[in-house]
Amino acid sequence: MLHRTLREEAYVTNRQLGTSGLVDLTFGNVSIFDPGVGVFAIKPSGVPYAELTPGKMVLVDLEGRVLEGKLRPSVDMPTYRRLFQAFTGVRAVVHTHSRYATSFAQAGRPLPCFGTTHADYFDGAVPVTRPLTKTEIAEAYEWNTGNVIVETLQGRDPLAIPAVLVWRHGSFAWGSSGANAIETALALEIAAHLAFQTLALVPQRGEIEPELLNRHFQRKHGSGATYGQDAKH
Ligand SMILES: [Zn+2]
Repeated sequence: MLHRTLREEAYVTNRQLGTSGLVDLTFGNVSIFDPGVGVFAIKPSGVPYAELTPGKMVLVDLEGRVLEGKLRPSVDMPTYRRLFQAFTGVRAVVHTHSRYATSFAQAGRPLPCFGTTHADYFDGAVPVTRPLTKTEIAEAYEWNTGNVIVETLQGRDPLAIPAVLVWRHGSFAWGSSGANAIETALALEIAAHLAFQTLALVPQRGEIEPELLNRHFQRKHGSGATYGQDAKH
């Protein structure tokens, strides 16, 4: 069996997503990418999380060819393919319709950074994609979803803004591992919930002060990051 570890990580992470509270019904999945060989493992389409096994994961290459797996890959496969092609350093992508993040996506509003919870994970507002055109919806819809995400993040470091809201749809979040991408998807949902309540309390609330944003984001992600423990601990 090719890429046993890739299948294993995709299985573990999809099971984790199923119990994360981020998913209603089956609106969500995770894909794990091995940039060394240009292959990713993806959830099979329509299979409940509790029925997943490592062997049911589907292996796909960057051309969209199924290399291994008897089941059809998730319909979101072309979107993942586009993101893995474009985002260097990204090894895992999570897609969900988590409720608060999706509320902002449906409203067509970027998720503003109102506080340090958000700033610990995202270096500013989480953007929302433009609406797809009628042609983009009719032809290669999932691939074009990937295209507008890449277009929205153009000129930004995808690891500094590791999530996006997709117009009227949901969210994609990513990271350096399956566990990291799930954590980012959870942080996105928490930040969206907090932002929703902040706007209910103070509709005109402005975004966080840049110095506070920088302090928090850099403390966790900058070259001189001081958060957490060194590997030797
Ligand atoms: Zn979706």
